[in-house]
Amino acid sequence: MIRLTTITSAALIFATALCSCNGTAKSTDKQSKMTEKVVLLGAFDKDSAYQYIADQVAFGPRVPGTPAHDACGKYIVEKLRQFGADTIIEQHAVVEAFNGDKLPINNIFAQYNPTALNRVLLVAHWDTRPWANMERSEERRMKPVPGANDGGSGVGVILEIARNLQKLAPTCGVDILFTDAEDYGNSNGFTNNDESWCLGTQYWVDNMPYTSVNRPANGILLDMVGGTDARFHRERYSNIHAKPITVKIWGEAKNLGYEDIFVNKVAGEVVDDHTFLNQAGIPTTDIIEHMSDATGSFPATWHTLDDDIQHISKKTLDAVGNTVLNVIYKEKAI
Ligand SMILES: [Zn+2]
Repeated sequence: MIRLTTITSAALIFATALCSCNGTAKSTDKQSKMTEKVVLLGAFDKDSAYQYIADQVAFGPRVPGTPAHDACGKYIVEKLRQFGADTIIEQHAVVEAFNGDKLPINNIFAQYNPTALNRVLLVAHWDTRPWANMERSEERRMKPVPGANDGGSGVGVILEIARNLQKLAPTCGVDILFTDAEDYGNSNGFTNNDESWCLGTQYWVDNMPYTSVNRPANGILLDMVGGTDARFHRERYSNIHAKPITVKIWGEAKNLGYEDIFVNKVAGEVVDDHTFLNQAGIPTTDIIEHMSDATGSFPATWHTLDDDIQHISKKTLDAVGNTVLNVIYKEKAI
């Protein structure tokens, strides 16, 4: 994913107005608040999610066209099979990157409860960036990022959610999309490069297996959801185009006592897989760390060689996994 636009003063006023509105939902009843906090639906296991990230990192950088990428793709499909997904589709294609590279991609799609009319789409990219372009030295900039957080974390959390869905079936339908070639974009300059990112998702929206009947009502994108001391603000584009699901997620996080991690404020705009899903008519929110305390933007490890397993936090994985799983289990069938 790439770039944040500066929040305009109008957007800031909008954000402030939203915050004051949401402040009225507070319960004054201590007892009911306590009860609300402990209702964890499912049994999200942060250790399992962490292990799925470690497994991906162990393959090496998952750059399209490399053996590590292919091996990790097989691992992900095998996990979905193991966790009883009803439908698994591997969408192979060749796409052209901004620099002319021809990338063999594989978007991995799976479904749970395929006949339910109300569907939620969970999305994460599984490829990793070929260049650590945020490194200081030229030599390091040419190396691929390990992608523990940027790539590995979203997949790890969703695989652990899938494991839960096998044990306790959701009332709604759940679709899972692991997108490829999200992170092969052009980081030189900040204009007119948006479409060099998210190549797998752009291919998918042109070929997606949906009719007007089975199209998901909402999507949730998980990107960089495992960083140490992560803070998740409401991404501005999500807040405009996928507001109901955005409100639901940040509300559920508060119910579960994660309001320090899910900061209920609107921050800047990110170009990510959700950009193209929203354009294709699937309202999708992006849970992404893009306003970190340390940088005021993406986390310090972003697109560096430090994006490794040592910088993954089980506490962060727990907050994200429990929040998203609770939202899914509260969704109705229709
Ligand atoms: Zn990235």
